[in-house]
Amino acid sequence: MTTQAVANPINAERTVYRACNLCEAICGLEIKLQGSTITSIRGDQADPFSRGHICPKAIALKDIHEDPDRLRTPLIRDGETWRAVGWDEAFDLVAVALADIIKRHGNNAIGLYAGNPNVHNFGHLLNLPYIAKLIGSRNIFSASSVDQMPQQLVSYWMFGHQFLIPIPDIDHTDYFLILGANPIASNGSMMTVPDVAKRLKAVQMRGGKVVVIDPRRTETAAVASQHHFIRPGSDAALLAALINTLREESLFRLPDTGRLNGLDAALDALKALSPERVAAFTGIDAVAIRQIARDFAAANAAVAYGRMGTATQAFGATNQWLIYLLNLVTGNLDRVGGVLPTSPLLPITGPGTRAGGHGRWHSRVRQLPETNGELPVAVLAEEMLTPGDDQIRALVTTAGNPVLSTPNGRQLDAAISQLSFMASVDIYINETTRHANVILPPTSALNHDHYDSVFNALAVRNVTRVNEAIWQRPENERYDWEIFAAIGTRLAVLLCRDYKTPPTVRQVVTLAAARHSAGSYDAIAAETHGIDLGPLLPSLYQRLQTADGRIDCAPAALIGDVPRLESAISSAISNANTPAGDAFLLIGRRHVRSNNSWMHNSHRLVKGKPRHQLLMHPDDMSLRGLSDGQSVIVTSRVGAVQLLIASSADMMRGVVSVPHGFGHQLPGVRQALASQLAGVSANDLTDEMAVDAVSANAVLNGVPVRVESAASKAS
Ligand code: SF4
Repeated sequence: MTTQAVANPINAERTVYRACNLCEAICGLEIKLQGSTITSIRGDQADPFSRGHICPKAIALKDIHEDPDRLRTPLIRDGETWRAVGWDEAFDLVAVALADIIKRHGNNAIGLYAGNPNVHNFGHLLNLPYIAKLIGSRNIFSASSVDQMPQQLVSYWMFGHQFLIPIPDIDHTDYFLILGANPIASNGSMMTVPDVAKRLKAVQMRGGKVVVIDPRRTETAAVASQHHFIRPGSDAALLAALINTLREESLFRLPDTGRLNGLDAALDALKALSPERVAAFTGIDAVAIRQIARDFAAANAAVAYGRMGTATQAFGATNQWLIYLLNLVTGNLDRVGGVLPTSPLLPITGPGTRAGGHGRWHSRVRQLPETNGELPVAVLAEEMLTPGDDQIRALVTTAGNPVLSTPNGRQLDAAISQLSFMASVDIYINETTRHANVILPPTSALNHDHYDSVFNALAVRNVTRVNEAIWQRPENERYDWEIFAAIGTRLAVLLCRDYKTPPTVRQVVTLAAARHSAGSYDAIAAETHGIDLGPLLPSLYQRLQTADGRIDCAPAALIGDVPRLESAISSAISNANTPAGDAFLLIGRRHVRSNNSWMHNSHRLVKGKPRHQLLMHPDDMSLRGLSDGQSVIVTSRVGAVQLLIASSADMMRGVVSVPHGFGHQLPGVRQALASQLAGVSANDLTDEMAVDAVSANAVLNGVPVRVESAASKAS
């Protein structure tokens, strides 16, 4: 086996290889070291999957590892000051406080929020369900309900498992229809695709097309074969019109309909949504819609794919349903060059995995349904603020910053500040963890082994790799799974409950490797550049986990959502002649140097041109007398922010954009560089009451706002 990890770094130079854990693309890195210092980070040319590609964020691994603001020891807050304590004192305090609240108010008095980096750390991922089970609360939340939960929900309904997710076969497709996604900036999402720019270019080089549908001419749209602006929140109407065009023009290429339930019912429910009916609503004319449908059908193999822009909006689940249906009726579901599931070394579907669920319990205040074991994070603040039985009185956060990343962040900030107790497993004192009574910082990711259980399973090829820790953890630091185990063990004693110790990453991968031709854990680890296990192959129909082994094309909740879509279209058309005035629809945007809220303390990632401004089309600006660089007030139902405006011809008329994850100037945040960054939190504008009616996912795109000059507002 390889032994990259060293206990006591010596001054010798060495080179190690490792998958980047910062985003979903899992690029291979070549990291050069001198003792305990990283001297360079480059793309690993020998990684068969990422082929030497990296983005600028990879270099930030050094910054994060060496960041003086990264916490190394537990902190206890005394008022506005923090006191470093030993691990046992911190563990005891957390366990006693949680046990006390559970004994007095019940399990549901504890809220648990897991942020996005959780899914990039298998050790963390293995441990979290165990501590959640021990606590036994229904108030479990994660970043999934401000992200991809509609995709998991629709996969559960249609295919019988939340993670039976067909992945775009980008390397073999001839037509790539991208809605509300910007893989050139994000490097792919729910589609692990390192080196995406070259892969998109290759689609075009082999005569195919990349077509982007987005209210902004994004970095991906800029290199696409076609781009169509679309009104935020109207993708479902476009998708329905594409399906109707194909049906009307007999362009379906249906699979064996013996494996389908409810296809006619689904198609009949959608039939009123013709291209002509939806054109004004979507902003895409009927001729263009029909042409997209014909091109999609004419391609030998085609992919329809949607992401944040389609998931975090008013029709998140319906969008995903229609994306799956569009792929299905054109014969591109479970087809090479279409979309098809991975066959990962470590399966996350099939026997022994959690298929999912929906509506098994509801939130206390607003009665919104759980999905796959968690409640929508849009209800987190009200569950803290509304008195009564099962009110959340204590919060545990791990690897998350919901004050910046969930809707109506100011309300959540206020709600958290009045809790009886809060503990955070986090490496920073950020906008959320500044309220914690105790912060328990896990080690740097470079100090632990890395196996990517999630993103190997969402990749555009079947790949696997184990990378061992670069350095063993310092004596006085703790892995996150050690933190969970220590708290879990103590809490179990205090509550007289069982706490089963989770398996280790090595144990789980060893078991998976033994069942797979890849051999053993050590054999995989020896291949430090990663192992290519081959292209995606059709297997969805054989792996369906629905009760009758067929695809459910017409889940009742989605059929039931069509009238809401029709009424949104009618309402938009009847309001079409109303002067827009200062009203806009707000969308987010992604930048390649940023990833949610937590990479703004790296000099390398924040330098350069400012990226926080409100983008608006120049014609919209001149109509309102606004000029580039001016300060404006943006107001939504929940609040107002002041920021600079930047003219951008890449914006659709009537739409403005603010990136999320900014707004680090709150008192008590201990991230020196981030705190100096200009920019406001987009989630001070997003509305916790606006959720997708089906999935209860947060609506972060298509938020109604007003934009006014700050000077004229003040006068
Ligand atoms: S694209 Fe993602 S995985 Fe690849 S180097 Fe950048 S942050 Fe890391």
